[in-house]
Amino acid sequence: MDVTHEVFNQPAPLAGYNLFEGNQPLRDALRFNAEALDTAELDRLGATLGTSEMQIHARLANVHTPQLRTHDRFGNRTDVVEFHPSYHALMEVAVGAGLHGTPWAGAAHDHVRRAAGFMLFTELEPSVLCPISMTYAVTPSLRSNPALAAEWGPRLTSRVYDSRFVPAAQKAGVTMGMGMTEKQGGSDVRANTTQAVRDGTDGWGERYRLVGHKWFMSAPMCDAFLVLAQTSGGLSCFFLPRWLPDGSVNAVRIQRLKDKLGNKANASSEVEFHGAQAWRVGDEGRGVPQILEMGNMTRLDCALGTSGLMRQALAIALHHTAQRNAFGKPLIAQPAMRNVLADLALESEAATALSLRLARTNDRPRDAHEVLMRRLLTPVAKFWICKRGSQFAQEAMECLGGNGYVEEGGEGVMARIYREMPVNSIWEGAGNIMALDLLRALRKGSDIADALAAELAPARGANAAFDRFASALPQRIDEATAETDARRLAQDVALAVQAALLRQHAPEAVFEAFCRSRLGGDWGQAFGTLPSATDFDSIIERAMPQPAPSPVRAAEHRFGGQERRDVGAGISA
Ligand SMILES: Cc1cc2nc3c(=O)[nH]c(=O)nc-3n(C[C@H](O)[C@H](O)[C@H](O)COP(=O)(O)OP(=O)(O)OC[C@H]3O[C@@H](n4cnc5c(N)ncnc54)[C@H](O)[C@@H]3O)c2cc1C
Repeated sequence: MDVTHEVFNQPAPLAGYNLFEGNQPLRDALRFNAEALDTAELDRLGATLGTSEMQIHARLANVHTPQLRTHDRFGNRTDVVEFHPSYHALMEVAVGAGLHGTPWAGAAHDHVRRAAGFMLFTELEPSVLCPISMTYAVTPSLRSNPALAAEWGPRLTSRVYDSRFVPAAQKAGVTMGMGMTEKQGGSDVRANTTQAVRDGTDGWGERYRLVGHKWFMSAPMCDAFLVLAQTSGGLSCFFLPRWLPDGSVNAVRIQRLKDKLGNKANASSEVEFHGAQAWRVGDEGRGVPQILEMGNMTRLDCALGTSGLMRQALAIALHHTAQRNAFGKPLIAQPAMRNVLADLALESEAATALSLRLARTNDRPRDAHEVLMRRLLTPVAKFWICKRGSQFAQEAMECLGGNGYVEEGGEGVMARIYREMPVNSIWEGAGNIMALDLLRALRKGSDIADALAAELAPARGANAAFDRFASALPQRIDEATAETDARRLAQDVALAVQAALLRQHAPEAVFEAFCRSRLGGDWGQAFGTLPSATDFDSIIERAMPQPAPSPVRAAEHRFGGQERRDVGAGISA
């Protein structure tokens, strides 16, 4: 013991457990969306990601942030970003698990499997997943230039992580990013001023020279990017490699790295194109729909990533409150805390359910219902799940009290989660843009309303609040929905689909409490306001990361087996 005091009643860190095994809601959602899926690889990944060694890499990659080196000591431009070795260690595991490209091989359930892996990895470290997500997302768009797709496709899906800044032809695996946002417009990319002028034709198709800038271009050490630029035929999409086929470095100047709230391990840059060479992907003037094929995939990842962060925050909160005693018993046994934890557990499971459901649509591109659900659920899931993320993180952080707010050299994972949350809501289409995109989808005809009704049908008749909610929804889904109502509609579609999914793959207690609170209005305006009739025990038990820390054992360990009342109990009693 130290001279002044003994440290006790402080929980052990949550480490050394299998993230996949310990996540029952995810496993049930997987069984529903991909019944025949072999989960052995996810099991292995979950074990790797739960080790304290990987947690140390996650901490170091966030503390030792990327550094830009624009020039060498002789004054030559270099335009490289240097990362801590832990960043590369994380990337190696993510690429090794195929989170960046494997699903495009066309095997059944591959997108769902990859989605689950992406969520698990997010629980360890979300920001290195930026280039991983963009590499995953680029394939459908890149296929519009068959020559590029043929040459780059195998390297984009290779499971070898090759961090070297050398021509792609010399690399065993590559990554790709995207550049749309300019200073004068991010949501409204039609305002892009970067100019593309024709420069000839070669094996990769129509070649152009680009002059202009991008105000945000994340992961600038990717091997190539899809970017938007203006041509005489209008805004168009281009493939822009960092190295040119002749072995020289392309004229992409990295001006600065962004000093961001979170997302620290990832570099986000401002760049200029000084006559950089780029090859057209898709037709002139069709740049926005072309690059949005990529954007829709990364929007899925925003929903998956936020769901993963929610799950991680919940797991830490459950683990902490099971070991921390206050007022004579573990926090997790205190009724007010049980309400908070159960409410967070409902939100987390609903987010997992909706984002995996969306991922499933990519496994069935020829199924008409799935195509409509993809169009509907992409903006809905991106809007609602990401919108809930920050509030969720704050509440989970509060479960840890003051320790939740402390960074301690990157050890404070809750603080990292909290700082990370908003980015998924902002980038790739902020909240309003997603809600407006939902209206755009609805204007395409009545098929989507019918598809939504079919999606909700399996849950009909099981809960009165759900039935009322689901019956009212189709009348609100029509072409005339005003922009003012767009967010409310996106929220309500999300809630209805989440409830329908919980009915199909969660226990009755979860479905019941979700419907009663979120759809039936028996709820407050903060987490922890579920009605007292809620089956808190079942909901919390289901959400516990496994193996669950035993509150009794923890209490025995801390207090030598004796019940000991906290002095604070006397003060408030
Ligand atoms: C960490 C990070 C990384 C990023 N990485 C990339 C990247 O790699 N590549 C890239 O291209 N971009 C990237 N971005 C940029 C991001 O995609 C944009 O910031 C985002 O799309 C919003 O654009 P903006 O910043 O220009 O805001 P604006 O377009 O000015 O929007 C501001 C607000 O106005 C709202 N709004 C816009 N139009 C309407 C409307 N018609 N009705 C109602 N509300 C509206 C938006 O929802 C938003 O809330 C990144 C951003 C961040 C924070």
